[in-house]
Amino acid sequence: MTTPWGKIQAAPVMPCSLQDVMSEQLALDLQQKEEENSVKVDETRTFQEILAAASEDPETTDDYLLAQMLQQEYDREHDQALKIEERKFNGNNKVSISFENYRVVHPAYRDEEEEDEIDPDEIENRKSEWDSPSPKFNKSGVFGKGKNITTKHDAEICGRRNASRLMDLPPEFHSGDGEGIDMKLPNKVYNKLKLHSLAENKRSQRLHEKKEFSTSEQVLDPRTKLLLYKMVNNGTLESVGGSISSGKESVVYHAYGGSKEGVLLSTECAVKIYKTTLNEFKNRGAYVDGDHRFSRDDFKKNNPRKVIRIWGEKETANLNRMKKFGIPCPAVQVLNKHILVMSFIGEDQCPAPKLKDAQLSVEDYEDAYEQVIKIMDTMQNKCALVHGDLSEYNLLWYQDKVWVIDVSQAVELTHPKAMEFLFRDCTNVCKFFKKAGVHGVKEPEKLFNQITRLNIKGKGAEFAAQVQRYDKERSAELLAHQISMKEYAFDYYFEKSQQDRLEEAGEEQEEMLEDRNDPFEYFYEKSLQDKEDEAGGQYSEEEEEDDEDVEEELRNADEDKMDKLKLG
Ligand code: ADP
Ligand code: MN
Repeated sequence: MTTPWGKIQAAPVMPCSLQDVMSEQLALDLQQKEEENSVKVDETRTFQEILAAASEDPETTDDYLLAQMLQQEYDREHDQALKIEERKFNGNNKVSISFENYRVVHPAYRDEEEEDEIDPDEIENRKSEWDSPSPKFNKSGVFGKGKNITTKHDAEICGRRNASRLMDLPPEFHSGDGEGIDMKLPNKVYNKLKLHSLAENKRSQRLHEKKEFSTSEQVLDPRTKLLLYKMVNNGTLESVGGSISSGKESVVYHAYGGSKEGVLLSTECAVKIYKTTLNEFKNRGAYVDGDHRFSRDDFKKNNPRKVIRIWGEKETANLNRMKKFGIPCPAVQVLNKHILVMSFIGEDQCPAPKLKDAQLSVEDYEDAYEQVIKIMDTMQNKCALVHGDLSEYNLLWYQDKVWVIDVSQAVELTHPKAMEFLFRDCTNVCKFFKKAGVHGVKEPEKLFNQITRLNIKGKGAEFAAQVQRYDKERSAELLAHQISMKEYAFDYYFEKSQQDRLEEAGEEQEEMLEDRNDPFEYFYEKSLQDKEDEAGGQYSEEEEEDDEDVEEELRNADEDKMDKLKLG
């Protein structure tokens, strides 16, 4: 019998009886023999010794030795493959990469066939052009004596040192090739370059993060993409840039505005897209079943795509109302189905920081606190709106002003939970500014009473309970003057998403208020319904494009225009 390592001498196999096989004595004997054999291999031997042993005895039957030889053969093959790969990768490139670190055979055991090993002399030569020897300074940084004194601040030496330090900047940084020239860089230039390099590095990291972020969040369905494409195609938007934020309920992109019907949009825009992941909604049928507020039929009648549009319509209406009363907030530019284009708070594609991230001075925090209270007061007493999600996450700091965003869920004062939401807003705001170190931050209860001009007593949970009671009584009163009860999909979804957020935050699950109604929502829905009726049912049919048509249109889209959609 032959193997790659030589012949195995077939040892005569002695037949033995069943009794022998079963005997413990035989087992012990065999064990002992095995052990004796294996002690022969001294595992502390170096590889070289093993190899030497192997070359002496190529016909070895020593398992350990065989295994090591086999492993070495594998390792060599692995390294060879790596080398081929490396050559293929580098091709004729001037700059080459090395897979050296991936090789497994220790350099000491490598064969001499390493033809492309770099000549050490060559390395020496390469180095020397940059490293023109600099004089040796004494401890105080001085070289030479008398008139010929040279300090370490000497312009020429510094310049040379700076020039060579340039090579230490990251490889992505194009510092050019100054090799062979006796190049000197003044400190000022070197420092500038270094700062620039750091900034570039950060920037590219940021872009990288963004890219990763947006590709991992595949949120834009073909329908949305097509809508955006059409907006670029008809000049409403100049281009759509990278993603600014991607949340559970919306994605926000940066865009450059174009013009619509002869009216210029703001130069920089934020494009907020309410999410259209229909699956989520489909699955909710299960929640809705058995909930007395929804009949299965009612739910089916609600086209989820239309339901989602209501978010945009609400945000538009709320922003417009806030603008009217002078609250700093984005200005609505265009609302196209579930895509809201508004003015961008920030500049050069850099969104203004949220208050949460703004890192202000104490004075600025104090100033911001006053501004927020004024905003809350105006919202309550002029706009008749409660934000409902007011916190350091939805307040931006830009040009020394607090800007309010994210008002798709803001409700009218008539909403059955309006005061509960307001108290929650007050709590968030007070907590944040107190933590930020603002002196004299009011207790949320006090702020609530001040804004509402109410005089609710108590503190904490007790106060909250009173607020809820107030909400209930007020809704009942309103209801007495209003039409029948009706629950709206919008409220349901809003409620649900708030619930999810609370659960995520690990907070106590809020109990859903039964039998609620919001007359504003009702009339709002009603007007939408009327619009649809006026269109004689055309409205709904006209917009229901086939999925296939959407795909087809996208395929036929103008590539140049499509390039202007950089959605990640
Ligand atoms: P969400 O419901 O997903 O929280 P937001 O309206 O709060 O939606 O927007 C998400 C993020 O996008 C904000 O935190 C903010 O950083 C950014 N953003 C939204 N609108 C604008 C805008 N008009 N200008 C600048 N940044 C914005
Ligand atoms: Mn938000």
